[in-house]
Amino acid sequence: MTSQTICGMDFEQFVYDMEDFHGARAPGIIVGALMLDTVLEKVPESPDLVITVETVTCLPDAAQVLTSCTTGNGRLKVYDWGKFALTASNRETMQGVRTWVIADAVAKWPLINDWFNPAQRKGDSPKFDDLVPVFFEARNDLIGVRDVRIVGEDHVFKKKKTGICEKCGESYNLRCGPVCSACQGKAYYLPS
Ligand SMILES: [Zn+2]
Repeated sequence: MTSQTICGMDFEQFVYDMEDFHGARAPGIIVGALMLDTVLEKVPESPDLVITVETVTCLPDAAQVLTSCTTGNGRLKVYDWGKFALTASNRETMQGVRTWVIADAVAKWPLINDWFNPAQRKGDSPKFDDLVPVFFEARNDLIGVRDVRIVGEDHVFKKKKTGICEKCGESYNLRCGPVCSACQGKAYYLPS
């Protein structure tokens, strides 16, 4: 195992915390940690830091273990785009840095390719402890970085305005529409 720091945290401690939080030693979280380490150098930790991840797997948990951004404090945006990419931004300045896995670089690292493209793999999936040093060695090859300006409507920080739904009488955030989301037909439940 590598004795390094990641986002200012001792790497061994990070692996321990990540396993505790995520429930397993996931290679994807290590890549996420390297991505966060890269972007947080340019967009430092602050109460206005926002992390936007472009996949629902691994990256949301890397952000929650290593930064102050959580799904509950509204500073972690999770898009189900199936892309191993994330952006750190500041919600006051709307400036940020995006990072992604460079597809061409994956092919150059056989072990990483086996992990990233399981459909092409012939043998077993690579072991976590074998992958970690390769991720560290490959990081400058593997991880793209670019300055970005944030324009997404859901990144605009708005104060909450609460109202009462005229159909069900429950309280809801008025940004959701003239009646609540459930009464608009989006309910994920039925009375039983
Ligand atoms: Zn309603």
